[in-house]
Amino acid sequence: MSRFRVLSSTLIIFSFIFFVFIINSYFDKKREQKYFYSLMNKKIDFMYNTVVKSSFEEQLFKRANAIISFENEKKIKALLSEDKSALIDIFSKDYLFLIDNLKGFKSIEFYNKDGNSLISFSKTSKIEHESIKKSIYNKGFFHLEENQLVYSYIKEIYQDLEKVAYIKLSINPVLLQNRISNLFDTRGYVFIKNDPNKETLTMSNYTFCNYCNFDNKSLEENIMKLDLQNKDIEFDFQDKTYLIINKTIFDQNMKKIGEFIFLSDISNYKKRFLLFMINSIFLFIISSLAIYIVLNGYFKKIFKKLNRARFLLDNTNDAVYVIRLSDGVVLDVNKKACEALAYSRVEFLNKKIMDFKKPFDNEISLTWDEEVQKLKKEKYLSIRSLHVSKDGIEIPVDANLSYVQNNNEEFMIAVARDISEQLAMENKIRKKAYQLQRSQDVISKSVLYTTSDLEGRIISVSKAFEKLTGYKENELVGKNHSIFRTPDMTKEFYEQMWRILGNNEQFVGEIKNYAKNKKVYWVKLTIDPLFNKDGEKVGYSSYQENITDKKELEYLSSHDSLTGIKNRGEFKKELRVKIKSNKRYHQKFGLIMIDIDYFKSINDTYGHKIGDDVLVSIASCVKNSLREDDFFARWGGEEFVIIASFAKIEDLEGLVCKLQAAIKELDLLPVPYLTASYGLTLFTEDDDEESIQKRADDALYKAKRNGRNRYEIKL
Ligand code: GH3
Ligand code: MG
Ligand code: MG
Repeated sequence: MSRFRVLSSTLIIFSFIFFVFIINSYFDKKREQKYFYSLMNKKIDFMYNTVVKSSFEEQLFKRANAIISFENEKKIKALLSEDKSALIDIFSKDYLFLIDNLKGFKSIEFYNKDGNSLISFSKTSKIEHESIKKSIYNKGFFHLEENQLVYSYIKEIYQDLEKVAYIKLSINPVLLQNRISNLFDTRGYVFIKNDPNKETLTMSNYTFCNYCNFDNKSLEENIMKLDLQNKDIEFDFQDKTYLIINKTIFDQNMKKIGEFIFLSDISNYKKRFLLFMINSIFLFIISSLAIYIVLNGYFKKIFKKLNRARFLLDNTNDAVYVIRLSDGVVLDVNKKACEALAYSRVEFLNKKIMDFKKPFDNEISLTWDEEVQKLKKEKYLSIRSLHVSKDGIEIPVDANLSYVQNNNEEFMIAVARDISEQLAMENKIRKKAYQLQRSQDVISKSVLYTTSDLEGRIISVSKAFEKLTGYKENELVGKNHSIFRTPDMTKEFYEQMWRILGNNEQFVGEIKNYAKNKKVYWVKLTIDPLFNKDGEKVGYSSYQENITDKKELEYLSSHDSLTGIKNRGEFKKELRVKIKSNKRYHQKFGLIMIDIDYFKSINDTYGHKIGDDVLVSIASCVKNSLREDDFFARWGGEEFVIIASFAKIEDLEGLVCKLQAAIKELDLLPVPYLTASYGLTLFTEDDDEESIQKRADDALYKAKRNGRNRYEIKL
């Protein structure tokens, strides 16, 4: 809810309260006004009655008594005599006295005992005297006389309990108007009927009493327009408001003869009411303004806090939901939640969590009630589920649920994180890991691979290595590589290997090893030092290539299959190497050609098999008699060749003698004995392959010719 909504609601509530207050005050004032009117009415009523009774009736009664009592006998006598001049004479004093002393006094009239007029004292002599037979006696009454309102009192005059005459005193009721006007600050007017027979109260039927002093002609005219039947008791005239109180005047026969109208100026009272209304409205505006300023400041503060909280909420990267536990209704959401599920905030607030939440991947999930129970117990839950957006898109989320209790209501705050990307990534990683595992398996099956520690103790081996060697990994772990070692691998080979690895360089070499079943295999070995992330050397890894087949092929092509020594091809290669190195380093060498004597006859005598055996024995015997750096090969048939690293011919001769002796000692049964012929030569600077071979061959030929079992030298 926005700050201005709260503010305007508060102001509306305040205005409403104030309005009720104003209305109440207005009606209160109205009631007060009514009460005031009725009070005024009562007062004037009371005054009216009092004045009529005490000022008119009593006064006139007393005056009449006084007139009769004073010089009573004389006056009765005059009345009885009905002598007009005597009456004038006696009563004119009383008349003059009353004119002077009684305000509004009008007339004294006397009537005989039959009610017929005797004499009348008045300013105007126009009074028409009728018989007063039907009149009420001893009681005052209003009546109209010569277009005037008159109050009269008729009293009977007795002598010795016998009625002798009547006295009638009349007065204009000016006093009544004056009294009431003075007392209540009102203006009093008397209206009398134009036509006594007309009963309507319309003021047009009335005329002003002729003794009323009107100081305001237009007011008079306006009053004349009043309709007293209409109960409107207020009368506005010339910026003033008057309250109208009217008293109907009845004659002695209770016939309406006129109206007293009192106008009370209530302008001030009215003004006060108006002022009250203005004050109230002014007060309303001022207090509204004050409330607005105070509330605005207050709400500004609150909303600043709220806005800060909302800012935080809306700027979190996770969707946040506040959910009522009793029914799952969403009470609030942040911006991220709206963005994630494409609902507006208002749309969300009409929803329940179950409307857009689904179990993740058809997993067995808790029902809402179970979830609520668990959350109440554990206060914190972490669940994975699917949220369904407005467009029906299912979004996998990890939600952290927290239990919150506030004012006896229970809530859940759910912070949901979209894990689509995370899941995609996990999937990708899983796939990659699977692929990697597969490739590792393939590699392990096909690649010869081992790792070892710094001392050369095995840490791991590949499946292919297990297959090649016949050992299982667990048999090898912790063992030294020396268990594969064959005597053919020289000490120097290993020394060189460790030297290279000691320099943290890669070692590459071909090595002949034993498998578990003592079968020999050859590998091309590549060893790399292994380093940890700090750069420290922690061991070695070795990749090996099985070259056994290649090695066997090499052996077959370079060795003689019968005797196992090198063949002629190898000899030729070696001779080329020797010639080259002689040319560079001037190393001398000699060449010895050997041909077994009369070998054909051995074959012929003992058979080919024995001949082969003899060849093998001779080859082995010669080989064992040679030094390591001497080269020995089968030339072909029963002929052999030696390249000996000697500089002098004597050394060659010595070697031949040694060979002759060794062959002589050989047990070649069933062949009783065997000899060979030898051709010797030394390499010379001008030699090529052909020339040195030819000389040795020539020398051998010479030895044959010269009787066999001997050597010849050709230099
Ligand atoms: P000499 O050299 O003393 O003149 O007589 P010889 O009998 O040794 O003569 P020759 O060199 O002509 O004969 C060589 C014989 O050696 C011919 C062949 O039958 C035999 N021979 C050659 N190669 C082999 C072999 O691999 N095995 C056997 N059993 N005999 C072979
Ligand atoms: Mg031969
Ligand atoms: Mg021979």
